[in-house]
Amino acid sequence: MSFTLPELPYPKEALAPHISEKTLDFHYGKHHNTYLTNLNKLIQDTDLANESLEYIIEKTSGITSKSGIFNNAAQVWNHTFYWNSMKPGGGGKPSGRIAEEIDEHLGGYDQFVEQFKKAGATQFGSGWAWLVLNRGVLEVMKTPNADNPLAHGFTPVLTMDVWEHAYYLDYQNRRPDYIEAFINNLINWDHASSQLEKT
Ligand code: MN
Repeated sequence: MSFTLPELPYPKEALAPHISEKTLDFHYGKHHNTYLTNLNKLIQDTDLANESLEYIIEKTSGITSKSGIFNNAAQVWNHTFYWNSMKPGGGGKPSGRIAEEIDEHLGGYDQFVEQFKKAGATQFGSGWAWLVLNRGVLEVMKTPNADNPLAHGFTPVLTMDVWEHAYYLDYQNRRPDYIEAFINNLINWDHASSQLEKT
């Protein structure tokens, strides 16, 4: 069994002007697809060939000889989660249970924005900013390169790709502008809320 590229949850032009169709063409069509192709090649005819993505990530994390498999598996998982972390007309202040959790554990929406911006802006080089559940408690964290909270026992709730390929065509070096647009116009809070139900 090999993994297939999941459909984007919206048309490629739907996130414009915040993320352009051209960026999604490359990011989804080339980058995400390449991680997937590499992963399928690496696990072919191995004992991981029929396992789930989550199992592969957990079993190969921290094992140097398996870093190629881990990096590609985690990047496949991270990108699918990232597409679902966004929606056209998203962003801004959430409501419902996710808002209550943010108030209770992060000190309110403004504190979330500050922490999430900082996580994205201070991730040196490539990586990801996350909202996660750590034993039921909401936290903001960042991970370098392909690293994924699942590998550390956390439950991902929301992610933002801060690899340059996520924003360079639209924002060049202006990562803070991309982060601003992500928070104000793209976050899919419905998807984030649905992750809370998984624990
Ligand atoms: Mn990416």
